[in-house]
Amino acid sequence: MRAKKEIIVMKFGGTSVGDTDKIKRVAERVIKAKEAGNDVVVVVSAMGKTTDELIDIASKISLEPNRREMDMLLATGEQVSIALLSMAIQAKGYECVSLTGSQAGILTDEVYSNAKILNINNTRIMKEIRNGNIVIVAGFQGITTSGDIATLGRGGSDTTAVAVAAALDAKYCEIYTDVDGVFSTDPNIVIEAGKIGKLSYEEMLELASSGAKVLHLRAVEFAKKHSVVLHVRSSFNDNEGTWVMDDSKITEKMERPLITGVTYDMNEVKVSVFGLKDIPGIASKLFGALAAENINVDLIVQNVSERGIATISYTIKTEDINLAKALLDKLKETLGFLDYNLDPDVAKVSIVGAGMQTHPGVAARMFEVLANNDINIEMISTSPIRISCVIRKDKVKVAVKTLHNSFKLDN
Ligand code: ADP
Ligand code: ASP
Ligand code: MG
Repeated sequence: MRAKKEIIVMKFGGTSVGDTDKIKRVAERVIKAKEAGNDVVVVVSAMGKTTDELIDIASKISLEPNRREMDMLLATGEQVSIALLSMAIQAKGYECVSLTGSQAGILTDEVYSNAKILNINNTRIMKEIRNGNIVIVAGFQGITTSGDIATLGRGGSDTTAVAVAAALDAKYCEIYTDVDGVFSTDPNIVIEAGKIGKLSYEEMLELASSGAKVLHLRAVEFAKKHSVVLHVRSSFNDNEGTWVMDDSKITEKMERPLITGVTYDMNEVKVSVFGLKDIPGIASKLFGALAAENINVDLIVQNVSERGIATISYTIKTEDINLAKALLDKLKETLGFLDYNLDPDVAKVSIVGAGMQTHPGVAARMFEVLANNDINIEMISTSPIRISCVIRKDKVKVAVKTLHNSFKLDN
């Protein structure tokens, strides 16, 4: 039997496999990792904008496509890229096999379009590794207990990669993307953004949950739970990227700034429900109904009630807008509220940093920066290391740039 080598997981996003030349370059990179003496498992996303294009095609057939069928459609994107990458690696004379989520043993729940990974049965992947193969796994997809294809939510290939890394006890998980790592804000919006060397899972969780789409939120949750070390780096150069790891392993804490990053999320809709009875149980019924439809709620604000009548506002994701509308129409009678409003012209801007736990006045400074730029704050939420504000969508770029500058993050 072969001596046991260390396993590394490499994940390549859509832009990294955007065309056949890029796929060939990824193949070379994978072979280099194999030649360095590792066992290699690769996770890939669909090529370029394939997933967007498939969603667009479906929207021409139906306004509210059945979610199971949608997953059947979207999963095809990753099936194309795993086959092509495997061919590219084989063409260079290396043993390689591609596996769909189902073949790779990725078991999910039945929440189509936003499924959670329940378990990975690594038998097949391990068998292929033992046979000397490089293994290519389709990102973003798995199989439910009833044998149907389910997808993990937009950006979900990161989660496949981390879950596979955990299931194989890999040395680390490399996330190859179109930027050099995790930056102090989106480098495609603010050119002064700087690359962060090391981040704790907690900080990365807050960055991902508040909109830094460079890593899928569930991927970071998985990495934290299973202590998978992540290395986010560019697929177009060999530069060292950003390491995401346990806080106790990060030694350069003295140099860490008050604020680590500024994030934004355009994918928000503000829902206001007017004329609700201000009695016990109303919020529970309203949010219980949303949860039953798997509609995720982010910020929530309830105003001071006047004469026993209250307004509750909350934000949801843009893709849930039709579902939320249908639900509110149904609830209007049973809950007995007067009216509701859906406002898609909002966005969320956040500042994240472990340093704010020990420095008072950070929130006040954020509000002041926004006020000085004539930006109205409509909702606020905080965690120990994050402050988020809901503002008008057209003010987001200004907000991100000035916050980045005011908190001295400009490179
Ligand atoms: P992939 O297709 O490789 O999964 P994504 O498009 O999902 O890539 O994520 C990479 C993108 O995330 C970058 O191109 C960048 O525009 C965006 N992004 C947003 N915030 C950040 C951030 N703080 N650091 C790095 N990239 C960010
Ligand atoms: N192809 C999927 C998407 O575009 C999954 C991913 O890229 O991570 O969302
Ligand atoms: Mg992504």
